[in-house]
Amino acid sequence: MTVPTSPNPGAAFAGLAVTVAGLGVSGVPAAKALHSFGARVTVVNGTAGERQQAEAAELEALGIAVRLGDGDTLPEGTELVVTAPGWKPSSPLFAAAAAAGVEVIGDVELAWRLRGPDAAPWLAVTGTNGKTTTTRMLAAILTAAGLRTAAVGNIGVSLLDAVLGDEPYDVLAVELSSYQLHWAPGIRPHSAAVLNLAPDHLDWHGSMEDYAADKGRIFHGNKVACVYNAADPATEKLVEEADVEEGCRAIGFTLDAPRMSELGVVEGLLVDRAFVPDRRDKAQELAEVADVQPPAPHNVANALAAAALARAYGVPPGAVRDGLRAFRPDAHRIAEVAVLDGVTYVDDSKATNTHAARASLTAYDHVVWIAGGLAKGAEFDGLVRAAAPRLRGAVLMGADRALIREALARHAPQVPVVDLERADTGAMSAAVAEARRLAAPGDTVLLAPACASMDMFSNYNQRGDMFADAVRAALPDTAAH
Ligand code: ADP
Repeated sequence: MTVPTSPNPGAAFAGLAVTVAGLGVSGVPAAKALHSFGARVTVVNGTAGERQQAEAAELEALGIAVRLGDGDTLPEGTELVVTAPGWKPSSPLFAAAAAAGVEVIGDVELAWRLRGPDAAPWLAVTGTNGKTTTTRMLAAILTAAGLRTAAVGNIGVSLLDAVLGDEPYDVLAVELSSYQLHWAPGIRPHSAAVLNLAPDHLDWHGSMEDYAADKGRIFHGNKVACVYNAADPATEKLVEEADVEEGCRAIGFTLDAPRMSELGVVEGLLVDRAFVPDRRDKAQELAEVADVQPPAPHNVANALAAAALARAYGVPPGAVRDGLRAFRPDAHRIAEVAVLDGVTYVDDSKATNTHAARASLTAYDHVVWIAGGLAKGAEFDGLVRAAAPRLRGAVLMGADRALIREALARHAPQVPVVDLERADTGAMSAAVAEARRLAAPGDTVLLAPACASMDMFSNYNQRGDMFADAVRAALPDTAAH
């Protein structure tokens, strides 16, 4: 499957009839790149809204064919399909490609095949939760080490742009989603990490086994280190199953004292017992737990994973510390909004599945929980059981809130629950008002919905912004300034 890197890898695409499935952040750069290498490109997209029409016009102006309104039919003569990651494997277009013996790859695989002979190696990150945070921490650490790098991939920066652009990178911090990995069978990272593995997107992958197998692809062909979570045996199993290069090591990370070949925590310090010569009886201090922003346990785990990848690349300990200190979390990830009447309001709108919500709920002692939205096939019993002792109350909203309400009734019947039926633009303000009523000084009101947002909001950003706006609106005038 691996395509050897030639001095001019783009030449392999000259004259090839390529169908690009999907416009947007991955399809548009893919179509442009293929076109620039002389491929005969047709872009297909099922929907034909305003955004798609604008993108189509932009591509058509370059001479690229675009077919809007039919994403199912494979254009005649197609020799390769390059798909946007979100397209379901069961899409009719792929059935047609399989029937015609046409290979389907994603834009990440395309970027890999277009790398030149001296291209920057990839340090890759995946997992159900913590990918963006860990990838950004990694980029911050690499930058602190004086390396030319960028956080790219599923993080909103196209890998194609990074690979084909003029910027001379030394190494890339690459976030990969399970969808992207599904369509990227040939990538071979320098080193990679799987942070955790919990059921998510199963409607897309079909089963937990398929989801895990797609995540596990990130380890294949690794050269130096496969990084796993010692507290999550499913991630270690993926390392055991991976076909890696001779000499590649399995490196664990743990919130406990590290065993040999692990990074871990000892007396408030992040330490490395993997990339030190005398690791049998010594560990190297990397940073303080207090250097991690925010220092919630799951985020310390993210920092250890980022440190492991950086150390695998040869970054010195001091740069790990400096990078973690320089790192600032993205919005809507356990972001403290304000303290009002002694109650802390925290926006973790990005907790879009139960595994993420569990991590943030269990980081606080007394929580009024705002939750609900689209469950994506999840069940809530485990999460509610784990959170029950900490819950001061719950405010539920969104399409699948009944699933959470029922789990609360089963496992936390003593917890007061407000069931918000409304889904209008004022719903989040109402939720915050109800949460405020339930909270006592010292509590945390936590928006950690455990669900996707699209039933009521454009995305998790808007959901988090509306929460923060509602909290700020309740602040006394003096505190707002
Ligand atoms: P991703 O890119 O995988 O979605 P993010 O770094 O954006 O991950 O974090 C998403 C959410 O997942 C955060 O808001 C937080 O609630 C939760 N989270 C972050 N790191 C972890 C982790 N290591 N384990 C569990 N949950 C996590």
